[in-house]
Amino acid sequence: MSSARQGGPVQPSSSVWRALGPDEIQVTGGLWGQRQRLNADTILRHCETWMERAGWTGNFDRAAAGTIVGGHSGIEFVDSEIYKLLEAMAWELGRDRNGDLEARYRALTARVAAAQEPDGYLHTSFGRPGQPPRYSDLESGHELYCFGHLLQAAVARLRTGHDDLLPQVARRLADHVYDQFGPRGRAGVCGHPEIEMALVELARATGEDRYLELARLLVERRGTGTLRGHPFGQEYFQDDVPVRAAVTLRGHAVRALYLASGALDVATETSDDELAAAVRRQWANGVARRTYITGGVGSHHQDEAFGDDFELPPDRAYAETCAGIASVMLSWRLLLATGEDKYADLIERTLLNNVLASPRADGRAFFYANTLHQRSPGMMPDEERLSPRAESGLRAPWFEVSCCPTNVARILASVGLYFATASDSGVQLHQYGDYRVSAALAAGKLTLQVASAYPFGGTVSVKIIEAPAREVTLRLRVPGWARGSAALSETPTARTPGHAEIRRVFRPGDSVDIAFPDGARVTYADSRIDAVQGMFAVERGPLVLVIESPDLPAGWSVNEVTADPGSITDDGHGAAIDVYRRSGATDEWPYSPKPSRREGERTRAKLIPYHQWANRGPGTMRAWLPLAGSRDRNEETRSGDGKKQGLVPGEGHPARAEPERAQPAPVRSGHGDYPERVPLTLPGSVALPGKVQGPAAEPPSGESSIGRSGGELGTGAARSTDGCGR
Ligand SMILES: [Zn+2]
Repeated sequence: MSSARQGGPVQPSSSVWRALGPDEIQVTGGLWGQRQRLNADTILRHCETWMERAGWTGNFDRAAAGTIVGGHSGIEFVDSEIYKLLEAMAWELGRDRNGDLEARYRALTARVAAAQEPDGYLHTSFGRPGQPPRYSDLESGHELYCFGHLLQAAVARLRTGHDDLLPQVARRLADHVYDQFGPRGRAGVCGHPEIEMALVELARATGEDRYLELARLLVERRGTGTLRGHPFGQEYFQDDVPVRAAVTLRGHAVRALYLASGALDVATETSDDELAAAVRRQWANGVARRTYITGGVGSHHQDEAFGDDFELPPDRAYAETCAGIASVMLSWRLLLATGEDKYADLIERTLLNNVLASPRADGRAFFYANTLHQRSPGMMPDEERLSPRAESGLRAPWFEVSCCPTNVARILASVGLYFATASDSGVQLHQYGDYRVSAALAAGKLTLQVASAYPFGGTVSVKIIEAPAREVTLRLRVPGWARGSAALSETPTARTPGHAEIRRVFRPGDSVDIAFPDGARVTYADSRIDAVQGMFAVERGPLVLVIESPDLPAGWSVNEVTADPGSITDDGHGAAIDVYRRSGATDEWPYSPKPSRREGERTRAKLIPYHQWANRGPGTMRAWLPLAGSRDRNEETRSGDGKKQGLVPGEGHPARAEPERAQPAPVRSGHGDYPERVPLTLPGSVALPGKVQGPAAEPPSGESSIGRSGGELGTGAARSTDGCGR
């Protein structure tokens, strides 16, 4: 059957911008094109193979055959990994139907469907004689959580044009859950939110309002004490405060962000302005106080949770990959609902740094936790065994709790759907890369091709392929990290620091170019982020740069260097910087009455994009660099204005003059300081001096550059004892 209307992962019934489906937007190349090919060619198969081998897929066969009791493999929520893989496969099939993926998808779906019980229930860990009874452990059993992932997989199948087996399974399952937990059912919620947003999306995709009603009930019940006490406290699963009363994102990060996503979906569909405002407030406070510079969230290893405000230690950063993906999901909903550019800014930062760091360059290993400072080289994980989730400093092929690889697979397969939106009057480009958009507007179809070297180069070219004969509006986001600077090839009809609009009659062959500041820049943290005081980060475009031990001389460690922010040069991909090695022996007592800086040898070190680190074997890495430049260093250092001078702590770096929320200082780069290079900050009419450089080729080795700005920082984490949901 092929009848369903196409769309993206989130299709609100009303929104400022309309989300596009896979028939309307396709990634055509560049960094994301490379990652989508990696996903299609390697990651999907990798997930299938590991789950088959671990016996997780076989759980469905054993459940169907009546032999599952005593023979279940994996933790109680491994069903969800098969569902996330099915979702990833569905989006990939919506993107490219070549090859044998459809056959693999159908075979896997059939195995899942065979395990569904006559009343619609479908879980391999509960409910059979010899297993815990159904819904006997809502706190940590993850039944509704797993169901939610199945529903989302079914929505992906519907939105890619197929109303077949999995959507049928999903409807039966959702009907069962409605009976059990709906208005006449049990007043309970799942310890791990997820099903809320899935139910809303299934309601949107099928038109069945009962699913929305159930989602609303589940959101309203949370925070009212229906869950038994958790060892980490009720905040862990957001049962401490009702959603509409909560001030910030808190507790287990993935849970918090999935819940906020579901709450916003409910608010949107029920016109609940108070609930929507509560979610916006939580997002704002979470971003301003609890987010790492990479967009990662969650500084606690023990409970995989948000820390306190400004508790963002780089070397203890947990910043789980799934939490980054969940953050993207929430920000996307808020972007559609409000049209505000800041949500696209966080999506960009999080995707290009936190999320993209997870898969290894070969697509066969993943980070679960995403630290910002790796102090010791770590151990190569055994590539034949399941790894604990955050044990090693290196990516691992598969985990005992393996929520992250399948989450990476589904976001990569669908990532292009987050790049642009449409309205009756035009198209809005929120993310840059290489992709094609073809959207039906009130005036007719607008088709355009976006080309760029993004995120490695700051010039984007938009070529019109097909356009109505009437005026339409092309809206281009100006990333937060560009701080309002952008040069356009024609005068915009409207502009703000966050976007520029061009409204006119476009003709096939027309092109609009926009260029953002190139070059590396220095970023400082809010003084309340204690763990990184006296340090700075380097960013380049939307990418956070890091120093990694393979780029230091033999015998040097990232743990013993200081660096000079006045010495940064841009290399077109990353940057280079002067770093100094600590001299002298370690003191018997590492504290003294005076600040101690002992900077000895100097070397020139390369900075690479954060997402590329740990692709060269065991090594150490840091994103936050301790400031060099003290009086006790005998050397002169080249300052930002090109004159030689000795730098004094706190001097020579304008950004440090502002203790609170310091602004990044312009940095000398190979391309000059960007404020001079790109003088046109959307206020006036904008014409590029000369022709905008054409889009660059795909970055070397399919990898590339750096971060965004927006501004939060963070760090720190450690190891967890608890998983995606325990
Ligand atoms: Zn995860």
